[in-house]
Amino acid sequence: MAVDSPLSSQLGPPACERDAKALHFIEETTSHADSVQDRVLTEILTRNSQTEYLTRFKLNGATDRETFKSKLPIITYEDLQPEIHRIANGDRSAILSAHPISEFLTSSGTSAGERKLMPTIKEELDRRRLLYSLLMPVMNLYVPGLERGKGLYFLFVKSETRTPGGLLARPVLTSYYKSDHFKTRPYDPYNVYTSPNEAILCPDSFQSMYAQMLCGLLQRQQVLRVGAVFASGLLRAIRFLQLNWRQLTQDIETGALNPKLTDTSLREYMDKILKPNPELAECVRHECSKDNWEGIIARIWQNTKYLDVIVTGAMAQYIPTLDYYSGGLPLACTMYASSECYFGLNLNPMCKPSQVSYTIMPNMAYFEFLPHEPDSFGFPCDSPPKLVDLVDVEVGKEYELVITTYAGLYRYRVGDILRVTGFHNSAPQFHFVSRKNVLLSIDSDKTDEAELQKAVENASRLLREFNTSVVEYTSYADTRTIPGHYVIYWELLGKDSANSPTDEVLKQCCLAMEESLNSVYRQGRVADSSIGPLEIRVVKNGTFEELMDYAISRGASINQYKVPRCVNFTPIMELLDSRVVSSHFSPASPHWTPERRR
Ligand code: AMP
Repeated sequence: MAVDSPLSSQLGPPACERDAKALHFIEETTSHADSVQDRVLTEILTRNSQTEYLTRFKLNGATDRETFKSKLPIITYEDLQPEIHRIANGDRSAILSAHPISEFLTSSGTSAGERKLMPTIKEELDRRRLLYSLLMPVMNLYVPGLERGKGLYFLFVKSETRTPGGLLARPVLTSYYKSDHFKTRPYDPYNVYTSPNEAILCPDSFQSMYAQMLCGLLQRQQVLRVGAVFASGLLRAIRFLQLNWRQLTQDIETGALNPKLTDTSLREYMDKILKPNPELAECVRHECSKDNWEGIIARIWQNTKYLDVIVTGAMAQYIPTLDYYSGGLPLACTMYASSECYFGLNLNPMCKPSQVSYTIMPNMAYFEFLPHEPDSFGFPCDSPPKLVDLVDVEVGKEYELVITTYAGLYRYRVGDILRVTGFHNSAPQFHFVSRKNVLLSIDSDKTDEAELQKAVENASRLLREFNTSVVEYTSYADTRTIPGHYVIYWELLGKDSANSPTDEVLKQCCLAMEESLNSVYRQGRVADSSIGPLEIRVVKNGTFEELMDYAISRGASINQYKVPRCVNFTPIMELLDSRVVSSHFSPASPHWTPERRR
């Protein structure tokens, strides 16, 4: 029931007094985007004026944009490596931030094969919580009645390590779920999850998923929305149900919990809520035992109004599969965030995935935008890049996001390319275009061209004793099965047909490639099972020449033609697949431990 509040918003009538405040905050902040940005920059520069970093660039206490922009360089993670290393090794002086670095957030972006370490400070948790607190008030504008039910969200913590200097290093969501902000959050009727903290915080991913699925099934009538952070995570949950529904329904039928769940606090919680319910067990069994799983989400959780998952960017590849399993339920992409900083939210969350635009909230950090020219790498040497302020971006143009954060990143290139679609008040709204240089991605892994090249080189060493080399290759993220997996097409040149590489050797090549890929990939393969075994498809000789002929027939210039290192255009896939002579899968898991290799 909408309330008539003095804080009524132009976004729409708020559902309750608390929502009214949140919507008012959005209106205020986006209406004064430029002055909020001014305040944010002044705050960051004032409090950090004595840090080693700002002193080095002789900011001398200046807090205005002009001086800031003229003195501070635009940087990438690689530029910050020396400072990050010192902090990781225990240097507690004010290097980047006057506030103590509380922990490192491990990004899914990698550097030299390992997750990037993003320094953060305690108060950033408040900023993250603030952004989260805006999501439901916006959703309530579009989907009424959510306070009458629950959300079935599959949320997980991942392993954490300590740096040599003793700081925790873990993913941002693990940090958030383990914080008091999350664990002791006050009851909010609009935000009740079926998953208890005991399940979300259980470090064993099988037990965590099992308990979350079981809780979701037990409360199936109350579930009004189903979600995970990314689309790949929700599909993993569906796959889990496919593999485990027999045991889950047995637990529901008998009221006795699967003995594989050994986590004490989880068992205690589950023992309290699990009672024999043969009727529910039969109902779930009836749906799951059908061969056809189309619309399974809507069939089991019949009251679901929408799926809450990110399907923008690399996750767009999962839209057809989600549509299949959900029977076409609306897909809501609610926010845009990263380990470095939470950026903003979607003010129209029930729009089609292709229409999603994120409104960057000007209070989260100081934002600048580097005009993006799709074919240029880095900056032209003679002209320094001209960065544009948040309120000055132009509709239709693409930019790379550059941030200055409270935690001590200054003019840092995030690597995301965004296109301006419009404005909400004076705050721009952005379509997420892509992450720079990402070739392959299944879950949160991001593999770039250089990593793929190195992996192919390493694997192809195993072919030397067969006098065989890889003459051309390309790749494809195959998400038709769950979990998805990398497919690498190889055209081989063998000089000794009597001694060509066997299936066993090519399988070892798959594993060698996996060993060469970055730690986020290997973690997905080993700890999260969110990525399936890598596959090499050997194609007939001459296939890549045909590929070139095809590209040229479609207008590519013969002089400039380069083999695409990743493909997803259906006719090209069909051409490649029709030339496959053999296919080989990685026979084992690559090496992965939570500890960093370096
Ligand atoms: P991480 O640093 O591991 O937290 O990953 C953050 C990155 O994930 C962002 O920089 C984006 O590239 C991507 N990402 C986060 N939210 C979204 C979204 N809503 N849509 C598309 N990509 C996203």
